[in-house]
Amino acid sequence: MKKLANKVVVITGAGMGLGLATAIEAAKEGASLMLVDYNEEKLSEAVTAVKKAAADVKVISFAADVSDESKVKAYVAKTVETFGTIDGFYNNAGIEGRQAPLDSYDLDVFKKVIDINLMGVYYGLRYIIPIMQQKNYGRIVNVASVGGIRGVLNQTPYVASKHAVSGMTKNVALEYGRYGITANAIAPGAILTPMVAEAFKQINPDDPKTAETEYAKANPTKRLGLPEEVAKVVVFLLSDDASYVSGQTIAIDGGQSEVY
Ligand code: NAD
Repeated sequence: MKKLANKVVVITGAGMGLGLATAIEAAKEGASLMLVDYNEEKLSEAVTAVKKAAADVKVISFAADVSDESKVKAYVAKTVETFGTIDGFYNNAGIEGRQAPLDSYDLDVFKKVIDINLMGVYYGLRYIIPIMQQKNYGRIVNVASVGGIRGVLNQTPYVASKHAVSGMTKNVALEYGRYGITANAIAPGAILTPMVAEAFKQINPDDPKTAETEYAKANPTKRLGLPEEVAKVVVFLLSDDASYVSGQTIAIDGGQSEVY
């Protein structure tokens, strides 16, 4: 039996990186999918990639910015109209912002990071939880970061927003556990996605590969993670197997956040 057979799963930020890797893994495990992203080109490439990975998958997509509340309502409505329900929610869309010290951080970028990483995650929860409540079942995986359990130099709004995601996850677990809804957050370390590639470009514009190699030295595994390694954990948390895990923020970082 596939882990997500007969489950309808919504994935935000599905166009590339962790969202796409999870979409592919979830499709292979039998889920019907709603893919959401604000990058229409990447979204349509993602639909093609998912169909290639699992030919019999039922997949639809919706172009939306998760920080736009009306668009969030619309993607939720479209999912219910098409599939009748929502069982799983991978609340993943997020941005890193720029890297700068707290006192000189660009305020517009600061607000944008909060709008997408905090409000976008919240809107998704606000409109999907009532659908799950109706059926007394739901699996939610919010995407925090190691920056949601530790400080990260020069990334104040990112760290603030990801700590907020971890906090909201605990509240979902507390408030909706009695409806059969579990909520967990994941805290990936450095996983090789386009977002992380961009961060290494900011650290060393002339030689991002060297910045990457230097960074990996501090990890107990001496390497960065792969999107597929995150996707496997997310699919477990979205599945019936994770029925008594809730309110947790689970690091997926090769142990790096435990190094002193
Ligand atoms: P990515 O930039 O590679 O992909 C993110 C996807 O989300 C893109 O397709 C982008 O278009 C989409 N997106 C961004 N903002 C959006 C919005 N407002 N509305 C709709 N779609 C939007 O990033 P990634 O590395 O795959 O990161 C995904 C999530 O994982 C983010 O929340 C990020 O903070 C978190 N994360 C990533 C890492 C990592 O190492 N890659 C580590 C910790 C946390």
